[in-house]
Amino acid sequence: MTEPRVKPAQFTLTTGPVNCYPEVLLALGRPVSYDYDPVFQDFYEALSRKLQKAMGSETMPVILQGEPVLGLEAVAASLVGPQDHVLNLVSGVYGAAYGFWLRPHAASMTELRVDYNRIVTPDLLRQALHEHPETTIVALCHHDTPSGTLNPLPELAAVVREHGALLLVDSVSAWGGVEVSLEGIDVLVTGPNKCLGCPPSLSIVAASPRAWAHMKANPTAPRDSILSVLDWEEAWISGHPFPFTPSVAELNGLDAGLDRYIAEGPETVWARHARTAAAMRAGVKAMGLDLWAAEEAFASPTATAIRLPEGVDETALRTLMQTDFGVVVSSGRAETFNKLIRVGHMGPTAYPMYAVIALTALHGAMARLTDRPLNLGAAIEAAAAI
Ligand SMILES: *Cc1c(COP(=O)(O)O)cnc(C)c1O
Repeated sequence: MTEPRVKPAQFTLTTGPVNCYPEVLLALGRPVSYDYDPVFQDFYEALSRKLQKAMGSETMPVILQGEPVLGLEAVAASLVGPQDHVLNLVSGVYGAAYGFWLRPHAASMTELRVDYNRIVTPDLLRQALHEHPETTIVALCHHDTPSGTLNPLPELAAVVREHGALLLVDSVSAWGGVEVSLEGIDVLVTGPNKCLGCPPSLSIVAASPRAWAHMKANPTAPRDSILSVLDWEEAWISGHPFPFTPSVAELNGLDAGLDRYIAEGPETVWARHARTAAAMRAGVKAMGLDLWAAEEAFASPTATAIRLPEGVDETALRTLMQTDFGVVVSSGRAETFNKLIRVGHMGPTAYPMYAVIALTALHGAMARLTDRPLNLGAAIEAAAAI
């Protein structure tokens, strides 16, 4: 008798979108209300207030109806105008891509670039602002996901504040998984589909009073457009018409994701993201592989990028991890493609045992692709010690 073929269980350990929390999946099945129903309008206001509290935002955050690239493009168009001189900080693929949306709206744009395995430091930023005193807006990708590196947001925000420019931050893949204080941040864009464990489809934009004033004074800020942040400013006020139909089902999902985040306690959520990433990094190093980040301190708590050894093809590696071990991870993007693989620690997958699963699959797939001796026992011991 031949043994029946056993299919592996599926573990989606990607850098987003990620599996949703069960509470979120249940909420997606709530009845879809009519957007002019007062019951829905009350729900929308309560949801907006919940989000404001969770983010610690001085003003009411705006929810846009499209996954976070919509929010990023909308904010670029709404905030940046013909009087603005933009300094775009680039430590990875997302930061570089954001320049393409910022540049057309601005009088000028310059970029501060670092290697994609490093981070922007306060000294480099201070120097760049010294060279470009005309800067009115600084843009930063907090966690450049294709590199798995986290920029030091509070320190960079303090430097921007000293200068007086507005700070615009893409924190799509960090907010909710690490502590983010809005102190010194003028616009923060995030989404529910990374660390909040909700499906992709919404953008979240929190803006300071200064940023709202800047957007309102911007002659080129879009109106009557899907890219208009200003159109949605007062959407939370009951009885106020929405600019267009909100994504009712995904708002229900966001509501459940926020409830879970608040009930678990943000500090606890951040701690398990950090712990999972630390276990993963310890395991990778003990196994005999290298982190992508030039220094471990640059590595993000919400994703781990692992440098591929010479001669290992990333597509072959990820395919084996999936077919033989049921573990789905992410590739690099653009400049980081075929140089690394990424394991996400976001929302429901930010539990340290998932690091053990990822390490096991990584080791098993690597063993089929390279003669390099890699030590699974040491990797698991190192991860478990964390
Ligand atoms: C995920 C992500 C986005 C949104 O883009 P996707 O289409 O979901 O890839 C934007 N910025 C960052 C830093 C992200 O990680």
